[in-house]
Amino acid sequence: MNTSVSTSSSAAAGRPLPCIAVLATGGTIAGSAADAANTAGYQAGVIGVAQLLAAVPGLDAVARIHAEQVASIDSKDMSLALWSTLAQRVNELLASDDIDGVVITHGTDTLEETAYLLQLTVKSAKPCVLTAAMRPATALSADGPLNLLNAVTLAASEAAAGQGVLVAFNNRIHCARDVAKFSTYAVDAFQSPEIGALGWVQDGRVEFQRRALRPHTVDAPFSANVPWPQVEIVTSYAGVSRAAVEALVAAGVDGLVVAGTGNGSIHGALQQALAEAASKGVPVVRASRVGSGHVMHNGAAKDDALGFVSSGTLSPYKSRVLLLLALAAGMTDKASLQHVFDTF
Ligand code: ASP
Repeated sequence: MNTSVSTSSSAAAGRPLPCIAVLATGGTIAGSAADAANTAGYQAGVIGVAQLLAAVPGLDAVARIHAEQVASIDSKDMSLALWSTLAQRVNELLASDDIDGVVITHGTDTLEETAYLLQLTVKSAKPCVLTAAMRPATALSADGPLNLLNAVTLAASEAAAGQGVLVAFNNRIHCARDVAKFSTYAVDAFQSPEIGALGWVQDGRVEFQRRALRPHTVDAPFSANVPWPQVEIVTSYAGVSRAAVEALVAAGVDGLVVAGTGNGSIHGALQQALAEAASKGVPVVRASRVGSGHVMHNGAAKDDALGFVSSGTLSPYKSRVLLLLALAAGMTDKASLQHVFDTF
């Protein structure tokens, strides 16, 4: 176990405060409702980055802030084009000697996908931290300001360097690869199932209790500056038909992820349709809809015979991110793809 602690004490030590770029993309953290008791019927992504920062007392004692509004969306509408724009801007900023770290404010709905995308496409060891909120900025007990303060504190800390892309949420530090949203309403909405958080941030103090083992950022051979392939997700459930797979293959899909039941098991009708897709050269990744655990290679679905790649511990949504990046990088054969899923 690796434990490292840092505090935001560089000003006290006479050094200039770190300069952190805050890139705002929208989300509930920038949401506004008609009254303070409203935490569900609000509009996401309407409050600008200057107002978000102004709501955080004490931020100027933690870091110098460079702020940019990259987008103003509800993250349910995140697009591949915006992923390219965001990754490019993060890479430009982190390549600058003037910037010590990046914080991205994001909606919670697709945060886990964007975080993993950046984990594989940011080419810097400087800190890159995503944060969000479950309550809009106008709500009683809004969680956004403290999450943003903690995210900047984390990005400004030496301990966060080289740890990959991180998510600061509700005082916890999560690894971008492991984290997922697990509640539709609770303030403690994010978990890293099985594995747990990497550490915590509280009252200006950052502590890591472990490190991510999988290669990331500077050690990942992927780029988001690409013509994106089309990769879709299908789900296995009682009574599922072949219709979705047949329609997607007919539409020319470049890759498929199946959210199987249990240990990635797949209803016979769907499995047959997916095996036919694989035999036509469409890469198929077998994941699980369960939300934790892993999908072992050559398990119940006999991957090698059916032509499937197994996802390991990646959820269907993160499997799709990795399959998008791998296909965009020209890795299309099953052996290369299985290696990618076993590695990243
Ligand atoms: N729908 C919102 C979004 O993802 C939810 C949130 O941010 O909590 O942008």
